[in-house]
Amino acid sequence: MLWADRIASEIRNTRTPRNGKTFLIRDEKTLSGRVHVGSMRGVAIHSLISEVFSEQGIANEFRFELNDFDPFDSIPGYLDAEKFREHLGKPLYTVPSPEPGFKNYAEYFGDEFVGVHQKAGFTPSYYRATELYQSGKMDPFIESALARANDVRRILKEVSGSVKDESWLPISVVCEACGKIMTTRAYDYDGQTVGYACDKNLDEVKSCGHTSRAAPWKGAAKLFWKVDWAAKWIAQGVDIEGGGKDHSTKGGSRDVANHICREVFGQEPPFDIPYEFFLVGGKKMSSSKGRGSSAKDMCDLFPPQIFRLALIGKDIREQIDIDPAGESVPRLYDWYDELALGVREGKADDYSRLFALCELPESRAALTAPWVMRFREVAFIVQMAHLSLKEEAMRTKGSALNEDEASMLEERARYAKFWLSTYAPEEFKYELQEEMPNVELSDTQKKALSALAAFLQEGARSGEELHLRLHELKTEIPIQPKELFQAIYRIFLNRDSGPKAGWFLASLPHELVVARISQAV
Ligand SMILES: [Zn+2]
Repeated sequence: MLWADRIASEIRNTRTPRNGKTFLIRDEKTLSGRVHVGSMRGVAIHSLISEVFSEQGIANEFRFELNDFDPFDSIPGYLDAEKFREHLGKPLYTVPSPEPGFKNYAEYFGDEFVGVHQKAGFTPSYYRATELYQSGKMDPFIESALARANDVRRILKEVSGSVKDESWLPISVVCEACGKIMTTRAYDYDGQTVGYACDKNLDEVKSCGHTSRAAPWKGAAKLFWKVDWAAKWIAQGVDIEGGGKDHSTKGGSRDVANHICREVFGQEPPFDIPYEFFLVGGKKMSSSKGRGSSAKDMCDLFPPQIFRLALIGKDIREQIDIDPAGESVPRLYDWYDELALGVREGKADDYSRLFALCELPESRAALTAPWVMRFREVAFIVQMAHLSLKEEAMRTKGSALNEDEASMLEERARYAKFWLSTYAPEEFKYELQEEMPNVELSDTQKKALSALAAFLQEGARSGEELHLRLHELKTEIPIQPKELFQAIYRIFLNRDSGPKAGWFLASLPHELVVARISQAV
């Protein structure tokens, strides 16, 4: 059973909606800069649970929080540090947008992230953290947390080993003088207001020294994040909310939030779905900040169905690892094609279920699995000016392409060209040499090529025939496979590796192949 179906039934068997009617599923992302693709795993997991519920007629809503109230705590490398330094420590919604046309910093990065959700067909309803605070919905929880600050401190100490001094309160006030939230320290709650001092200095984030009293309601202050997390669950009646496994360890932030939820707010935490990381080229979110690691960069590499497969294809207990500059890109396309083949062959199993869930919900009913040429072959052909992609595809398929197949082929060619022009490694880049390159062949290689030339002089051969002949030559000559294939790639592509040799030779103009091999020997 696919993980999404397994988890959906586990939830159904153990829970009823808090409001008695609709399961509320929630996830959030702090918009502190361009969003890493790792954050798409949460979006995908929560969306899929929602989709599975909807299929089964179970009322649900997936709400996604664009967190614009957390502090702006570091300046991403791609922004002008001089311009943004003065804003460090302020809530994100008061930091200016890097580009005109957006209300603030959080909206700018949120817009790009939501665009990625849309392309992948994920359609949560969105709200902002500031809406939740400014509307006063968080006030009862701020009040409880302040009144029971002793319990919060005790839980932090018992569960995570974090010790706060006696005066510590679980909120951060927005400094009325400098607008920063990261630099303030709150103390002395009197039932109406708290005292605060803007006197915490953290590396580049400077405090202003202002001290005052403030009423911490309606967005004037924000709860300490593990308390904030629990408060948001109860304020909105969240039934289901998973999190990355880094949060889910014993004593980790989820554990603390669960304790606060039960012991301070007196309610059960939502159903948890702890999930593994989405690595980019083997690196975790915190260490992979380079090109290709953002949600937008990764999503640009794939059509929606294949991007969805990247996000939902693996069990939540398994890591995802995609390197935009590696073989994992063509491999992902291969995986998708394998699922499509299973569907065409009528296999009703997890494969066809996964294939269906890769489709956007609206097109799942009329599900077809058109044949499409392998990505790596498409990527090769688009680099060979003498080849027509459509003709080669028809030759490989063995019959004409229908409309769906032709349009998928075109789509795949567009993605292949984009990949080749951006991240693709050298091993996928080919240039057919117009002249014989300067190569030194051994006598054994020459002997094998002569035999191949003789075979080709009898007439044009199919890829399959050439493939079989090359295999015969290995024992006939005899020659090591590597030596034989290298000779072929060298004289045509001036490199040591290439696509499947038989198929490659058959795809080239017959006269060119015969002339080039004869010249080489
Ligand atoms: Zn201040």
